[in-house]
Amino acid sequence: MTEFQLTKHPHRRFNPLTGEWVLVSPHRTERPWQGQVEETRREEEPVYDPHCYLCPGNARAGGVRNPEYTGTFVFENDFAALRPDTPDGRLQEGELIVAESERGICRVVCFAPRHDLTIARMSVHEIRQVVDTWVGQYQELGALPFINWIQVFENRGALMGASNPHPHGQIWAEEEVPNEPGKEAHSQSAYQVENRSCLLCDYLELELRSRERFVCDNDSFIALVPFWAVWPFEIMVMSKRHMTGLDDLSDVERTSLAGILKQVTSRYDNLFQVSFPYTMGFHQRPTDGEAHPEWHLHAHFYPPLLRSASVRKFMVGYEMLAMPQRDITAEMAAQRLRDAGQ
Ligand SMILES: [Zn+2]
Ligand SMILES: [Zn+2]
Ligand SMILES: [Zn+2]
Repeated sequence: MTEFQLTKHPHRRFNPLTGEWVLVSPHRTERPWQGQVEETRREEEPVYDPHCYLCPGNARAGGVRNPEYTGTFVFENDFAALRPDTPDGRLQEGELIVAESERGICRVVCFAPRHDLTIARMSVHEIRQVVDTWVGQYQELGALPFINWIQVFENRGALMGASNPHPHGQIWAEEEVPNEPGKEAHSQSAYQVENRSCLLCDYLELELRSRERFVCDNDSFIALVPFWAVWPFEIMVMSKRHMTGLDDLSDVERTSLAGILKQVTSRYDNLFQVSFPYTMGFHQRPTDGEAHPEWHLHAHFYPPLLRSASVRKFMVGYEMLAMPQRDITAEMAAQRLRDAGQ
């Protein structure tokens, strides 16, 4: 009987943040690929695009004109998924048909006036302005009595369905904590009650000891491929110090966050020599006025690429019906990202 090895044998890994499992099949990494190949285009974007609805001075759908902004620029999404003026209401038929009204505010954050930039190409100083904007928005929206959850995120690249290459992200603020952070909230609080410590602080300590899944770090932040990663090159960015939200960042830590975001996105771009697509976003405490010491500020990067700029991972079949599955292990992915330098 051969001994079980994570590097060789199929196994499932537990995600303590969501309480879910991922199937890992390291023996399959050598299988030939005959699936879909994405078209790779390395078109250079212009500094200014007269047809871009995010560029300074341009008109957006509905006729509103953007100001000639020079740093970041925030506006209410012209096609918002949530609206603050939604009437309060509820529909229920027995236990099986349930609907609740949901109020919220959706904003767009332009990271920079230049159409051709990405976080990887921006200076730390420029990214720092984006961090400051995120903090300001978290505070401003979080202070509204009906806003209890703020989702800061970026969808980067056409592969992720981003409709516009102009560097921008979104902020959706709403009444209820959505599904994914809801699972994490539940796990972090159960862990806190049982162990009298923070789940991610304890996880961070384990990772700093092994360094197998370490990607890069600076004084205040660490980037690693979590043990339970689902996407091939998934990364989690965590604050080294326990803090519950972006508004806990000191001046120096805000610049550190800008620095680690540049490091991570530069490594991604280097990996397959392409402007790497991803969805990234922050998880932090709800803005319901409670302290939430169980929440530890972190960001998730979920990139879809698998083995090159043109081969992506699909979440289909078994993954839609049963659970996520990956071939390349988190440790192999971390090694590749460490080698990708910056
Ligand atoms: Zn633009
Ligand atoms: Zn913590
Ligand atoms: Zn999270």
